[in-house]
This record gives sequence, C-alpha cells and structure tokens, in this order.
Amino acid sequence: MSRPAASAFLAAMLAAAAAAPSAYAQQGVLNLYSARHYQTDEALYADFTRQTGIRINRIEAGDEALLERLRNEGANSPADVILLVDAARLWKAQIDGMFQPVASPVLNQRIPPTLRSKDDGKGSEWFGISTRARVIVYNKAKVDPALVQTYEDLARPELKGKVCTRSGAHPYMLSLIGALSEHLGAQRAEQWASGVVANFARSPRGGDTDQIRAVATGECGVALTNTYYLVRLMRSDKPADREVAERVGVAMPNQKSFGTHVNISGAAVARNAPNRANAVRFLEYLASDSAQAYLADGNNEWPAVASVRVRNRELESLGKFRADDLAIASIGRAQVTAARIIDRVGWR
Ligand code: FE
Repeated sequence: MSRPAASAFLAAMLAAAAAAPSAYAQQGVLNLYSARHYQTDEALYADFTRQTGIRINRIEAGDEALLERLRNEGANSPADVILLVDAARLWKAQIDGMFQPVASPVLNQRIPPTLRSKDDGKGSEWFGISTRARVIVYNKAKVDPALVQTYEDLARPELKGKVCTRSGAHPYMLSLIGALSEHLGAQRAEQWASGVVANFARSPRGGDTDQIRAVATGECGVALTNTYYLVRLMRSDKPADREVAERVGVAMPNQKSFGTHVNISGAAVARNAPNRANAVRFLEYLASDSAQAYLADGNNEWPAVASVRVRNRELESLGKFRADDLAIASIGRAQVTAARIIDRVGWR
C-alpha cells in the first residue's frame, strides 16, 4: 500500500470509529455520575429535562466509589458528566485523566477563571458551578468571638481543649489546609496544624453538621463548617435544628488578611462521554441563570456566575465578606502538601 493510500485508509477507519455509536450513545439521554449528596438537586435535573427533552440517567455514589467505578469502566464508561464537590477531588480526577476538553464559549464567559481548572497540558477541564465558604462557628455563651477571627486563631493557646474538627483527611479539610499552606508556606501551615491538634476538645469525628451540633451543646467551643450545612440548620423545619443554629455564632475568617476560604462544587465532561453534545449542554445549563439560582436556593450555596442574584434570606444573613481569591486549581494542587501535614501532626 502506498503511503497516501495508507493514510486514506486510516482516515476512513477513524471516521467509521467516530460514526459508530458507542453502546451507550443514545439520542436524548445523558448519563450523569454525581457525588453531590444533596437531595434538592432532583428538581434541577427535572428542570433540565423539561427544558431540553434530554433524559438523565443518574448514578449517585460517594466520591471515592464514583471515581473507582470510572477507573474500572475505563474507555467503556457510559459516564457523560461528572459532578464532584471540592477542589481537592476535582483536581485529583483531572490529573487521573477522567475529564476531557469542553471548549464552551458560554462556560468560559460565565464561570470566572478562578473557579475553573488550569490547563493540565491535555486540555481537560472542570468548572465550578457553585461556591461555599469554610467558616468558624463558636459557642456564643462560651467563646469570645474576638478569639476566633482567623484560621490561625484556632491554634492559639486560649482555645486549648475547645477545638473540634472532622478528620483532617477529609477533602474539605485538605483543601483548607492546602490553601493555608499556599498563604503561609508549608512550614508555618504545619506549625499551625500542630497547634490546632493540641487544642482538640476530642479526636476528630463526624461531619460538619456534627461539629455544629457539638458546638451548640458546648461539648466543643469552636469548629469549622461549610456554610451550607449551617444555613440548612437555620432553614430547617425542625425547631431543634433552628435552636442549634441560634446557639452558634459565625465568624468569616481572615477578613483583614487573605479572606475566607471558598471552595466549589464542580462539573466536567467525562473523558469517554458517549453523549458528548448533551454533556456540554448540561454543563451550560448548570451555568444558566435559572440553574444557578436553583443551586443557591436549593442547597444554600452561592452561584458561581457573579451576575446571578441570591434569594435565600438565611444564606444572605451571613452577609457580604471577603473571599480568598486563591485559584481553586492551586488549592487542589496543594492537597499533596496538606496530606503530608496532617500525617505529620496526627490530624486523622
Ligand atoms: Fe458536603
């Protein structure tokens, strides 16, 4: 076979392969792998189907299980869109090659650059769709708010026996500790982490809501939580939950320095998406005014799209604050340093 004929043959083969529908390619269908653990997302998916006629098949699992499943499925994965929470997890999935380039002018225009992936050299992308802050909550009756105005404060000697956190190995903690190591340098971040561990009221256990409840009962003086857990308690229809929220004060840390740590929930098109066009359409839908407003109201997060208005009284009660503008992608990268720090100081 002459050389031109060989490349023509190859081109024909590639075209055939591209045209051959994958076992999972179906018109009007989107396979969504979601690690978002918020029941209120249901209405969001229903709205997308109403607007586009595209039916969503959903696989929901924890982040680890979901990523493990994607790894096992490899090139045969039916996944079109992957939804994950936290920069640490998105970064990890990106370097593991789970995503692909999206190149959507809509997303590039609507999602701010600090809330998107940096180019990994392969062009694979993820996009923040909503933001949450990691704040300090304190027992109003027991702790002077002047003592807890910064993350650094959690290591101060006055708080000995008062600090509660979830495991340092959780992505929410890894991202925060990673951000602090970016700001303070790894060495000072480690000193700080060992100071926090020395202040523990109890060994790390439970999730963010458990920390808030323990602060309310006074078992802990201060703790860290993502904002949406707190706002969920404020908006609960159970009076006992609202009472928990009333007992705790909220400090937006580091207003006079680098700002409060903000993280994201994000979306990406899966590397081998059989329904790629629908996947991009879904991501663009997530960046639309209605979906953004829905995310803010339904799960008490802030919209990633700056122009979208929040109509959520309890969320708004947290007020305007200075958010850390460290790029989410660098927070993801810094989790390697953060993991080393928590191992060394025993924050497990
Ligand atoms: Fe969460």
